[in-house]
Amino acid sequence: MQKKIAILGSTGSIGTQALDVIRNNKKLFRPVILTALNNADLLIEQALEFEPEAVVIGCKNSYPNVKSILTKKGIKVFAGKNDLDQIVSAYNIDMVLVALVGFAGLQPVINAIQAGCDIALANKESLVVAGEMVMKMAKDKKVNIVPVDSEHSAIFQCLIGENPGTVEKIYLTASGGPFLGKDRKYLETVSKQDALNHPNWEMGQKITIDSASLMNKGLEVIEAKWLFDLKPEQIDVVVHPQSIFHSFVQFRDGSIKAQMGLPDMHLPIQYALSYPERIFSNFKRFDFLDFAELTFCKPDRDIFSNLALAFLAMEKGGNLPCVLNAANEVAVQAFLEEKINFLQMPKIIEQCMDAMGYIANPTLDELIETNLSTRKYASKLTGSLLA
Ligand code: NAD
Ligand code: MG
Repeated sequence: MQKKIAILGSTGSIGTQALDVIRNNKKLFRPVILTALNNADLLIEQALEFEPEAVVIGCKNSYPNVKSILTKKGIKVFAGKNDLDQIVSAYNIDMVLVALVGFAGLQPVINAIQAGCDIALANKESLVVAGEMVMKMAKDKKVNIVPVDSEHSAIFQCLIGENPGTVEKIYLTASGGPFLGKDRKYLETVSKQDALNHPNWEMGQKITIDSASLMNKGLEVIEAKWLFDLKPEQIDVVVHPQSIFHSFVQFRDGSIKAQMGLPDMHLPIQYALSYPERIFSNFKRFDFLDFAELTFCKPDRDIFSNLALAFLAMEKGGNLPCVLNAANEVAVQAFLEEKINFLQMPKIIEQCMDAMGYIANPTLDELIETNLSTRKYASKLTGSLLA
């Protein structure tokens, strides 16, 4: 039986790689819905190749063009934020790959759960801001959330066949990004291009900057807490520059399991789409002799203070991870627009975490409000840095 899949964010790094996987496994997977924010040309190209039932383009200006081309092919075309959020409820879908960036992923995740669809989750930010709520909803609706993030896919795979109660701790591996081992003086002067030059992974711009600042690992720590129901003290981070070990689980007898492979997101994407099956792939195989040395070191939480801020947000909980995430989204955007320097990003995030009101058990509306007010405050801070 073909699995009917919606790909939210099909024109991005994860979305396009998911379509590579589907192209190689057409008997198994059928993309029923594709969505994109702006890139109408690529969305049209994808729709002409894969013939989904519907597409959604976020940018309403592109709607007439997308509609005129795809309607002729019998493909329904929708536009705007509401349709992006709600499209999964309107179609019969088995699995939704949520591959959008940022807080924008939260509402589609909630809607997919409400519609009873399993989720292949790339969008870590939705679990960072509302992990407790999302995991509870998924449990109530008996919906599987299968992680796409390589570290979480690794842990998910290591846990199969194990009693979750026997997990002592997990180690998330971090490549360390392009600035591993650099000092503060160096980081003050790095450019956007330096930060976008990731040594191991080809990814969208936001996650690439997050990887350089270690915020990506910080977000992943919080993502792991909710996905695997762990206490903060059960989560650790180890830098592993070769990105071959994708993460580790240590059990109560001291035994450690790891999942390994070349750094290529096609694999965790395929695993999430095919779960619970493990299907064939012709991805390049890992050769031990190409990697005479696999090394590990401690992350520097003083220099890469985003990691320390994320641990703090996880420990305090409530709406603080939402503040951390919103401030980071604004700071990363300002850095990409070359309005602030690299080390000003954690400063803005820290100031937002100090300034925003704390809510211990936020509702969805309170999280939406926290996201908006933090973004406003963070934008004001970046503006004052410009002045
Ligand atoms: P990307 O920027 O390459 O692609 C994002 C996609 O989402 C695009 O199709 C874009 O049109 C769409 N989109 C962006 N903003 C949107 C919005 N506000 N509303 C609706 N659609 C929107 O990003 P990516 O690198 O593919 O990352 C996607 C998610 O997956 C992120 O949460 C990221 O952290 C996570 N992730 C990515 C990788 C990777 O290798 N790229 C690895 C692990 C996790
Ligand atoms: Mg990751």
